[in-house]
This record gives sequence, C-alpha cells and structure tokens, in this order.
Amino acid sequence: MVEVAPYWQNYIDGGFVDGGAGRLAVDDPGTGEKLAEQALADAGDVDHAVGAARRCHESGALSALRPVERGRLIRAMGDYLLEKIDEIAPILTLESGKPLWEARIEIEGAARYFEYYGNQAETLEGRSIPLGAGYFDFTVLEPYGVSAQIIPWNYPLEMTARSLSAALATGNACVIKTPELDPLTNRYFALAAEAAGLPGGALNILCGHGQEAGAALSAHPGVNQIVFTGSVPTGTAIAAAAAKNVVPCVLELGGKSAAIVHDDADIDAFMSDVRWGIYFNAGQVCSAMSRVIVHESIHDRLVERVVSLAKELSVGPGIERPEFGANMGAMVSERQRDRAAGMCSAAQREGAVAATGGRPMNRPGWFLEPTVLTGVTPDMTIANEEVFGPVLSVLKFSGDEEALQIANGTPYGLVGGVFTADLDRAMRASRQLRAGQVFVNEWYAGGVETPFGGYGKSGYGREKGREALLNYVQTKNVAIRLGAN
Ligand code: NAD
Repeated sequence: MVEVAPYWQNYIDGGFVDGGAGRLAVDDPGTGEKLAEQALADAGDVDHAVGAARRCHESGALSALRPVERGRLIRAMGDYLLEKIDEIAPILTLESGKPLWEARIEIEGAARYFEYYGNQAETLEGRSIPLGAGYFDFTVLEPYGVSAQIIPWNYPLEMTARSLSAALATGNACVIKTPELDPLTNRYFALAAEAAGLPGGALNILCGHGQEAGAALSAHPGVNQIVFTGSVPTGTAIAAAAAKNVVPCVLELGGKSAAIVHDDADIDAFMSDVRWGIYFNAGQVCSAMSRVIVHESIHDRLVERVVSLAKELSVGPGIERPEFGANMGAMVSERQRDRAAGMCSAAQREGAVAATGGRPMNRPGWFLEPTVLTGVTPDMTIANEEVFGPVLSVLKFSGDEEALQIANGTPYGLVGGVFTADLDRAMRASRQLRAGQVFVNEWYAGGVETPFGGYGKSGYGREKGREALLNYVQTKNVAIRLGAN
C-alpha cells in the first residue's frame, strides 16, 4: 500500500503555499478514483512566483554564481531525485497511470538531465573578435532572467527536468507550471532544490489550469523566455502571448512520426523498437512511432509479429506492474482514452482494419487495448492526426521515394526512422526526411546529449544537447575603443 499525502501545495519563493484558485482533485488513471488534492494557482500566484524569480535573478544569487558552483547545485538536485526514487516512483505511477518500471525510467531520465546540464554549466564561454589595433571586443552569453516553463502530463518529471536543468545551468530563475492531471511529483524538484541549497526564488513550481495560470504566466510581462511542451493549439496561443511581450519561446509540440521498414531490415531488432516506439507510456509520447511504413514484400510477416506483440502485452494498473518491459499501463484520463478509442473507430469507418485492439478495456481505469491498425492509407485521418495513445498505424509502400513521400506527408516533423541494412539508402532517407531527428536502425537512438525538436507543426527551437543552452541565454557584445582618454 503506497501512502500518498492527501494534499500537495505549490512552491513559491522558497515556501510551500496554498493556491488562490482552491484545490484540484488528482485521480489515479489505473482505477479512476481520486488520489489526492493539489493546490490550484490563480493569476495572483503566478504574479507572486514571477516576482520571486525576478528578485532572485536581480540579486545575482544564481546568475552571478561561479558556473562551477551552479553546476554542483544542479547535479545535487539530480542526485536527490535518485536517492528518493523508491518514494517518488509509486506516486508518479499512481498519478499518471504508467507502470512502476516506466516511472523509474522517467525519474532516472529526469536525474540524467540534471547530471548533463550540471556538467554543461561550466562550458558556456564568450569569445573575442579582432577589431584592429586600438580596440578590444568581447562577446558574452547572459541569462535571460526569468524562464517560464509550461509542462505536459505525459512525462511530468522528465519534461520539467529537461528545461529546468538547462535554464538553471545558464543562470535563469524559473517558474514551472505543472500539468493538471499529474502535478504531484513535481514537488520533489522543490525538495531537491532545498536539499541542494538552490537560492530561494530560483525555482517556483505551481499547478493551475492552463486557461488561467498557464495563460497568466505566458502573458506575464515579467517573464523573459518561455518553454512550452504540449499540443499545437496551446503552443499557438503561447507563441502569440510571447510575441505580444516580444519574448522568445521554444515550442515542443506533437508528432505523427513514421518508421520506414525496408525489405532488408533486421526484423528481429525492429520488434523491440515497436515495443518501445508505440506501447511505452501507452503511446502517450510526442515522438512515438505512430506509423510504420513497411515494404509490401514483408508487410504480412511484419504485421503478424506486431499483432502478436500487442496481444502479449499484459495491461493493467501501473502500481501492480513493477517488472521491466512486459506490460502497459493506463492512459492518463478518461478523456484521452475515449479520444484515442474514437479515432480508432473513425479509422475503421474510413477503411482501416483493427488487426488487434481499438477498444476501451472493460475494467475500471482508463485503459485502451494495445492496437494495430492495418490497411491504413496516407489520405486517412488516422495517418495524419496524432492519437497520443497505444495505436500503431501500418501503411504499405513499394518504392523508396513513395515511402519518403508518405513519411513526409503530415503537417508534423518531430522524428522519423529508417530501418535498412543499406547505408546509402539510410543516408538518403536521413537527408530527405523532414524531421528534427532521424533514427537509423533504432527508434529512440540518441539521448540527452542529442538535440531534439520539431520541423513544421511539431514546433521550433531545440531541447536537449548543447543546442538547448542557447534557448536560455542572450548575446551581449562589448566593443571597446582603447586609449580613447
Ligand atoms: P496541452 O497543450 O493541453 O497542455 C500542456 C500544458 O499547457 C499544460 O500544463 C496545460 O495546463 C497548459 N495550457 C493549456 N492551455 C493553456 C493556455 N491557454 N496557456 C498556457 N498554458 C496552457 O497538451 P497536453 O494535452 O498536456 O499534452 C499532449 C500534447 O503535448 C500532445 O499533442 C503531445 O504530442 C504534446 N507533447 C509534445 C512533447 C514534445 O517534446 N514535443 C512532449 C510531450 C507532449
């Protein structure tokens, strides 16, 4: 039996506080029952948090620290998460629906961001440009000041860790708006900050409704930079709010990513990629392998194997599923589950076939059967719109160009994959795929070190890697005329 505190507060200016908008019930997707209550912030709380972050920034408590010190603080936050992993993982499972082993992977992933960006804190350097005798010129990178980060529910810890660690490493004070559906475990970032000794006001974490607290944060004149991860409509609204204040934003939006599987691909290896690509986190992953575009000569063989994999997955409450790999949890909410099921029904009306799954499961909680849709054609809605659930669409191709055309045929461009033994073919595909990251022969190859972000409607700006540091700094050039006096 996991003990979950009945009420969770926000964290503003170094203290835990109630919310001006009252409380929000957080449910367990594995049972559909109420788990706990979360303080709900209003626009006044947002103002309080931005003010605290601004004061912290202007005091220099974080921004003027030697980078080596900032790096240590950030790495210590990651260490704290790992120390508390046994305590955090069951709560993350209960609030999000993901199996316990996936919750542990998420916490390890979050800690890895603090390790990586803690190490990067010392690597940002300025440069000097020769202007000729009598001049000295240097260029430095300075933090923006207050970074606002609006977080989605699919990886509440990893998504916060991704932007928070890089923003702190570059010396920004942060205000995090956590997702309404699973905000609880974000509290551990506040505890990690306190354990590490982060200055007060450098990290503020609040949960609030997107339309209220999220909108107030993205439009706040005290915010200097915004990072958003979530849906396209919300991203559009946030970019408009950022534009009004002339502040930059990074948008990590949805995807409809495709794996192209050629007839010379190693199918045994590909099968484990399917497991991770579409059934990890019940498919609620922006870079999920939501389409497989397979060569017609191996189509039937591949479908048979994918269908048996989907059928073999044991599905049920995440808290009962600690063992690595062989199972899937609930979707995050009834609304998301019903939306995904609705998209499966609509696909069948358009002519696709549910080779397995496609329906909500007849049990408490928000479960969708692991699904494989075959006979999908590029013009169908299911081939173009993001499901954000455990639903794999299988399409057929006969020539390489056709495969690439299908892969590039959606408005999105987050990631793409190609599976082949032919290096030239892989290189051609990697050049032609319109996506921010291309995987060759392994879905999710890459890591915290590799830049990640979208082409097209999948957004702009890059997270992860050294590339992401540039989101959080502005360039200042100092040009000096020597001996002028
Ligand atoms: P969402 O856009 O509904 O919400 C994301 C966050 O934005 C939440 O914290 C929400 O409260 C807030 N929000 C909602 N309306 C707002 C507004 N008007 N102003 C400011 N904030 C507002 O998305 P979601 O349903 O939580 O997440 C699912 C979507 O996110 C999917 O489309 C998925 O592909 C995408 N996603 C992308 C990535 C990525 O890295 N590219 C990662 C995770 C999720």
